[in-house]
Amino acid sequence: MVEKEEIISKLLKGELKLYDIDKFTKNTSEAVEIRRLFIEKNSNTQLENIAHYSLDMDEALKKNIENPIGTIQIPVGLAGPLKINGEHAQGDFYVPLATSEGALVASVNRGCSTITEAGGAKVRIVDDKMTRAPVIKAKSASDALEIKNWIKDHFKELKKAAEVTTRHGKLMKIDPVVVVGRYLYPRFVFKTGDSMGMNMVTIATDNALNLLNHKTGAHVLALSGNFCVDKKPSNLNFIEGRGKSLVAEVTIPKAIVEKKLKTTTEAIVEVNTSKNLIGSAIAGSIGFNAQYANMIGALFLATGQDEAHIVEGSLGITTAEDVDGDLYFSVNLPDVPLATIGGGTRLETARECLEIMGVYGSGNVSKFAEIVGGTVLAGELSLIGALAAGHLARAHKELGRG
Ligand code: NAP
Repeated sequence: MVEKEEIISKLLKGELKLYDIDKFTKNTSEAVEIRRLFIEKNSNTQLENIAHYSLDMDEALKKNIENPIGTIQIPVGLAGPLKINGEHAQGDFYVPLATSEGALVASVNRGCSTITEAGGAKVRIVDDKMTRAPVIKAKSASDALEIKNWIKDHFKELKKAAEVTTRHGKLMKIDPVVVVGRYLYPRFVFKTGDSMGMNMVTIATDNALNLLNHKTGAHVLALSGNFCVDKKPSNLNFIEGRGKSLVAEVTIPKAIVEKKLKTTTEAIVEVNTSKNLIGSAIAGSIGFNAQYANMIGALFLATGQDEAHIVEGSLGITTAEDVDGDLYFSVNLPDVPLATIGGGTRLETARECLEIMGVYGSGNVSKFAEIVGGTVLAGELSLIGALAAGHLARAHKELGRG
């Protein structure tokens, strides 16, 4: 066994690479320690907080991380109870939110309390899918069109080829298929059960493309042609949807608006129109909302979702209407990739946060999606309410600056 000091010394001299450490020890925690001691020396730092963790790093190493040196910690707070009247989530829920933004949990909590007193958030899943869209190069535009037609005529065969790779992944359609010059962009649309599905649909699409290549000679330039659209905000996802497409709504009686949000329905409606709709239009923003990314981000970090998908979850439109003095308020989220199984959901802290809401594991993703929709509604309502009441700067001064 080569001594730790010798490995670290060789790493510092560049004689070993980070991944070489695994050749010297089969003990994961020892490998983590060696890597960390190396980077402490290399960067002249003490990483005593990163060093402390309770996650099973052996398990994490199999699917979630390479070259681990420890973990980071983000405070997690609780908002709720939030009453949800969904098709899958029914009842009062406490929601774990991981964030370092002071005032966020307090703000969401105020929204939860307002919505719950008003009878709860009605939440529905409008659509549910995961997509992968490769880019294919044909000999000519007319050849590209022929491949497009072949895809349409042989959908069943492509579906079979895709689905042999997975028990839960189901290819629903390949649509749209866009041709630009010699390039072809078919969007493979799947159901992925309780998983977010990106690995699942990537593997399944790859297998279907092998068949396409074999039958038509279509040359796949890249398995993702950016028409998926994965991890970028896009109008395609806004219109077609990706992940879970959600709508959450509540009608809040005038008296509750005034008591809880310390403002009026009229003021909230005007702030929503002038800020979320007109302001966003002037800015050319795709998100016509105040802060979906805050709730999506805090929930994603707490529950082991893919954090890069926060950009997708930030899309959507908030509406507010005055109904005889009462406030009708809704959030519309077309693009929220979610999982209760697979990916990072099995990391111990993520699993515990999912368990708080009773949504860890198989059969729970729709319930989780409805809780996510309700939580976004709560945060959005509270912020628009605070802006309408002129409370925002005060809350941030008190809660964000200690
Ligand atoms: P995954 O953990 O790779 O796959 C989910 C697994 O759970 C599959 O093996 C599936 O089996 C199984 N499973 C068991 N019960 C299930 C149920 N009820 N519903 C659905 N699946 C069930 O996760 P993934 O969701 O496919 O991919 C998520 C990961 O992909 C994240 O870590 C994300 O960061 C990463 N990602 C990858 C790419 C990429 O291009 N590869 C891009 C973005 C993100 P069956 O397949 O047999 O059904």
